[in-house]
Amino acid sequence: MSRIQTPRPIRGTQDMLGGTPDNLADRFAHVVDVFERVRKLYGFRRAEVPVFEATAVFARSLGESTDVVSKEMYTFEDRGGDSVTLRPEFTAGIARAYITEGWQQYAPLKVATHGPLFRYERPQKGRYRQFHQIDAEVIGAGEPLADVELLCFADHLLRELGVAEGVTLTLNTLGDAASRDAWRDALVAHFEAHREALSEDSVERLARNPLRILDSKDAGDQAVVATAPGIDDYLTDEAADFFEKVTDGLAAAGVAWTRNARLVRGLDYYRHTAFEFITDRLGAQGTVLGGGRYDGLIENMGGPATPAVGWAAGIERLAMLLDAGGEHRIDAVIALEDDAQVARALASLRALREAGLSAELVASGSPRKRFDKAAKIPAHALVSIGQRDGAPHLNVRGEGEIAARVEAAVRQAG
Ligand code: ATP
Ligand code: MG
Repeated sequence: MSRIQTPRPIRGTQDMLGGTPDNLADRFAHVVDVFERVRKLYGFRRAEVPVFEATAVFARSLGESTDVVSKEMYTFEDRGGDSVTLRPEFTAGIARAYITEGWQQYAPLKVATHGPLFRYERPQKGRYRQFHQIDAEVIGAGEPLADVELLCFADHLLRELGVAEGVTLTLNTLGDAASRDAWRDALVAHFEAHREALSEDSVERLARNPLRILDSKDAGDQAVVATAPGIDDYLTDEAADFFEKVTDGLAAAGVAWTRNARLVRGLDYYRHTAFEFITDRLGAQGTVLGGGRYDGLIENMGGPATPAVGWAAGIERLAMLLDAGGEHRIDAVIALEDDAQVARALASLRALREAGLSAELVASGSPRKRFDKAAKIPAHALVSIGQRDGAPHLNVRGEGEIAARVEAAVRQAG
């Protein structure tokens, strides 16, 4: 008989298991739990959108010349011959739903979601082909206070997660259309003058989408970017006023930030506010959360003119910033020392869990060895259930408030 070869996992995907030394699955879940808690504090509704969409949803909205659309999408023809794409980000799908599902009636709509995303990238630490994001959007709100609210949410979340230390909010404005066009012309002039120092990719970007060069990860490009003009000299009065209202709001709300006048975001649809929360604790993959205002997107997709602002953060990158955490202890472990008492053990388990206490049963293998086996499981209380001289016997070891609650629950159970 030939041996069956187990297929390898796909490059850039991850398997995670809780209760291991790195505790990655638990850290991941913790990020989502805290996100769910904080989004309720800010009054964001939950949304769910499909994992795949018609390719046009992403290709049109993200911009044909962006890295995501030109190189990173998982696009295929399904069996019916339609071109579909696994979502590489949330915003386009949510904007599509806003238009097609009548979500306009809830405007200004504050929505949050989380889940898996797919990009064909070169896998490395903090960069995967299947990764996960938490995401928050405010759709139908054009005022700078919406940007402030969203940034407060992000800042609050990072503090709740305990990772705010060493993570910096960098902020910029991309201005309105007039500001952006003027800045774009200045950037083109600068990059043309340094054309020979640019990477091949960036020479191409120069023709199609020069702002994108600012976002390049190539070291040679970054040197040219460092001396490129910032946007400030090109802001219209209106755009400058909008930005001032955002920064005044942040000051009033106690959110710290630093300015990066050359910050742009990877996708085409941003206007006005653009921001990233960055850290040097994750090597090259230093952006944990990014977002901004995308007032033109929904109209571009065939909907009504609708201002909007949003952000997304990589769950894996946030989880990597968390400590692995201490040893996980459950509340009670029960050793069934005599199989004649199985009914009592099951009643005790039920009573414990209904009292909100976590519990596990050790009931396999030789009954004489079960106590020692159970004693090896980290728990607040060790319960043994057996028989002495033909009568049921119950014993609870452990100290503290949880052990006392365990004892009360199992004694009441029988
Ligand atoms: P990067 O500059 O790192 O490629 P990006 O600008 O492409 O990020 P966004 O599209 O803004 O990222 O997504 C928001 C967040 O999602 C990022 O800040 C990051 O935390 C996370 N993220 C993006 N791509 C990946 C990936 N391939 N693997 C893991 N996390 C990712
Ligand atoms: Mg990217």
